[in-house]
Amino acid sequence: MVGQEKDKKSEDQCALCNATANSRCGGCSKVSYCTKEHQKKHWKIHKGECCAWKVCESTSLGRYLTAVRDIKAGEVILRERPILLTPPKVTPAICLGCYREFNTDPEEQVQREYVEPRPCPKCGWPMCQNDECINSPEHAAECAIAEARGGAVIRDFNVDHPVYRSIGILRVLGLKDRHPDKYQKLLNLQSHSEKQRLEDAKAADSSSLHSNAAALGRFGGEYPEQRSEIERDKVVTVKVVRGFFQRKDVDEDTILNLISIIETNGHEIPIPNARGHINRRLIGVYNNTSFLEHNCKPNCVKTFDMADKAIVIRSAVPIKKGTNLSISYVDPLWGTNDRCNFLQMTKYFTCKCTRCRDPTELGAHVSSLRCQSLKCCEKTGLESLVIPEDPFAPEKDWVCIACKETYPVGYVSSIVNKIGKDMDELHEKFGDIPAIEEFVKKSSKFLSPFHFYLLEMKVELAQLYGRTPDEPILALAPRKLLRKIQLCEELLIVLNKIYPGYNRLRGIITYELQAAVCTLSKMKFAAGEIPLDKHLDELMQCGKWMTEVIKVLGWEPENSIEKQRADGAAQDLQLLKSMVLSIQGDQNEGAQPSTSMDDMDNSPDRESFIEEVF
Ligand SMILES: [Zn+2]
Ligand SMILES: [Zn+2]
Ligand SMILES: [Zn+2]
Ligand SMILES: [Zn+2]
Ligand SMILES: [Zn+2]
Ligand SMILES: [Zn+2]
Repeated sequence: MVGQEKDKKSEDQCALCNATANSRCGGCSKVSYCTKEHQKKHWKIHKGECCAWKVCESTSLGRYLTAVRDIKAGEVILRERPILLTPPKVTPAICLGCYREFNTDPEEQVQREYVEPRPCPKCGWPMCQNDECINSPEHAAECAIAEARGGAVIRDFNVDHPVYRSIGILRVLGLKDRHPDKYQKLLNLQSHSEKQRLEDAKAADSSSLHSNAAALGRFGGEYPEQRSEIERDKVVTVKVVRGFFQRKDVDEDTILNLISIIETNGHEIPIPNARGHINRRLIGVYNNTSFLEHNCKPNCVKTFDMADKAIVIRSAVPIKKGTNLSISYVDPLWGTNDRCNFLQMTKYFTCKCTRCRDPTELGAHVSSLRCQSLKCCEKTGLESLVIPEDPFAPEKDWVCIACKETYPVGYVSSIVNKIGKDMDELHEKFGDIPAIEEFVKKSSKFLSPFHFYLLEMKVELAQLYGRTPDEPILALAPRKLLRKIQLCEELLIVLNKIYPGYNRLRGIITYELQAAVCTLSKMKFAAGEIPLDKHLDELMQCGKWMTEVIKVLGWEPENSIEKQRADGAAQDLQLLKSMVLSIQGDQNEGAQPSTSMDDMDNSPDRESFIEEVF
């Protein structure tokens, strides 16, 4: 109470001179000022602490971030450089400066951007020919430790090297030696064991909720790495660090804890090459970002800045003051079982967000099946779907929301497994539109239209139509353009339910949608099938979508496919703009202005639309 009083008083006083204040900082709402001048003067001091969130702590959630003011969609909320950068756990030999793989075949080097290895003169670890890599600040940590040990030697470049698993720990020890403040920050982050403890305290009954239901998901319970393997690797890393590298100053528990901290908080950074292909990945650990909550319907999105490997967190939707900020650690298009199993396996916690608790997954029905009862056959859409009775009780029956017919969980998993196998076969015929359409048609008899299998295939189809070499978009038949539009619209409806606001996937689908609508509109107008005002309306709508695409995909890293789309959309928007202006120009020169054209010119809607788009 006393604390609150004090807070209130200080908010009403100018942060610089203590005089009565009458305006707050627009960035954080945390400090007030008497005048604009004092705000300007104080900025040097306030800059470092001005942000739209604060770190809170509770016994059930641990630390988390809360909005301290209303946040608009698309704002940069947080941008920070990593405390630690490390190669992924499983990697063949790579340069520890630029993370490129080695290969001595000159042809492969050009094709896949491999580099030729040479030993670092100081530590012997293989590096590329670039001196910058050998002298990079990141390599300095393992370089010094390996040099003190008498050097590291790697001979076989084409197999995964377990010794690379210790790089993360060696780099942490480098921080301990040279940047104790950063080392302390890292140690302060949560590890699995801590998360698990909080989870257990929160709900004793929920720790193994989804483990029995693994068979209901995409991966059938088979994950690339099982927990026992992970544990074994940790022990090997301890031996390498304490034995081979002679760092006896850190005990086993500290190393195990540090491995957990990197696993729990690490973000994978995909690095696109010049052609947009991802052939290098890094793990970055960030300080404040680590306090962001996970949510299967997140309100924030992350991107990376390749220049300094900073993570950039933006609001995906408008966020009200006092709301917790969240990102998703899993693909939001996965069904509840896959999401929960993956989170359990990799991040060691059970998600109990509103989407996970809702058997309909917020009405998106990403895991639901179609009812096979005769009574229900007539119904279409989302009316007769089969959902789990209780998403947290995997042994319980599933039930039709319309006729209440029950389905044993064994039936559900047999359907999901069967269709999963069909889909694996389909993946082998990549890009085969008729085969994918056939799969969609066949499995739609058993699955909700937004089931995770169908979503995956519909996302692929939406991008395939009009993008194959033999059928570019301008050569696409109107029937296929309509199908592309239908797919995009369907996907945007689901995204609004489970992955709302600005995000990469929405950007990609919107890009495909505007391309199809624009092409079809031009086609129909040229054939005299739609009047001029409808054509103009559709072009305006496309302009609006393009603006969104340019914004959202423009956040993605340089060279990435998404960034290339954003740049393409920016050019298309210029073309569209001149096209609309020239149509409007022709229209104004028309001798006999018709009433409908008068209406159009006077329409305030249209005026503001043009402003907004262009
Ligand atoms: Zn003042
Ligand atoms: Zn501020
Ligand atoms: Zn390099
Ligand atoms: Zn070195
Ligand atoms: Zn969840
Ligand atoms: Zn039914």
